[in-house]
Amino acid sequence: MTAEIVETVFVENSSLQEIKIGTAVKRAREAIGMTQAELANKTNKSLDTVKKIESGLRVTQWTVVAEFSHALGISADDLLGIETQIPNRTTRNQAEQAVRTLLSYFGENPSREGLVDTPRRFVDAYQEFLAGYADDPVSILSRTFEEVEGYQDIVLMRDIRFESHCEHHIQPMIGTAHVAYLPGARVVGISKLARVVDAFARRLQSQETLTNQIANAIETALQPRGVAVLLEAEHQCISTRGIHKTGVACVTRAVTGEFQTDTKAEERFMRLIGK
Ligand SMILES: [Zn+2]
Repeated sequence: MTAEIVETVFVENSSLQEIKIGTAVKRAREAIGMTQAELANKTNKSLDTVKKIESGLRVTQWTVVAEFSHALGISADDLLGIETQIPNRTTRNQAEQAVRTLLSYFGENPSREGLVDTPRRFVDAYQEFLAGYADDPVSILSRTFEEVEGYQDIVLMRDIRFESHCEHHIQPMIGTAHVAYLPGARVVGISKLARVVDAFARRLQSQETLTNQIANAIETALQPRGVAVLLEAEHQCISTRGIHKTGVACVTRAVTGEFQTDTKAEERFMRLIGK
């Protein structure tokens, strides 16, 4: 695990930095028969901290995710992924009924003409917004090419528009992703980078998790010399409710390998994306 957020610029909403791994840690620990005390020892945390994390306390630092994934011998992606991949056993009817319940709660009459088909449309819309759970980003990147005439320079796809939804309010997070890598032996069709962004964006997300998941998937699938991902997004839960601040961009970045160790590579990436 090499990806980490090296620079997180948050404007006025620190709660967005939360990353949740409690269920995943507990499951992974029990699967290998490790006690909470042993896990505490391996991660240099107190037993109390391990208990709190497992009981659903949210971990705010990416480094904590990396420490736990290392101690448990699973990838950080798996640790972050389990929580979002819990199978949905709710039926379509139940889902539509839940929308009717919400409509009544807010003072509407779900049976009035204009709202009769709204639950169906709502569920359809969200199935589309959250379609990324069905995608496997690493397999999207699995078809690679080695014949590139020795091309070794940066491969960059910039200004990839993405639409995601924040996991805290289920409100749109809309923005732009810039994704680059320095090829090792293999390259991938460039449009696949945009597909990977979509596969992770179409889930309930925090922007930090999204950033790291994109970087990790490229790292895992291509084993490049380095990956750089920068996301800028506006969160509607900030612009249309709460503090009502518009035009606030939340910027997150993940760099690995040469982008992390070589200042020039990192500077070129920032320059190429116009930063
Ligand atoms: Zn939100």
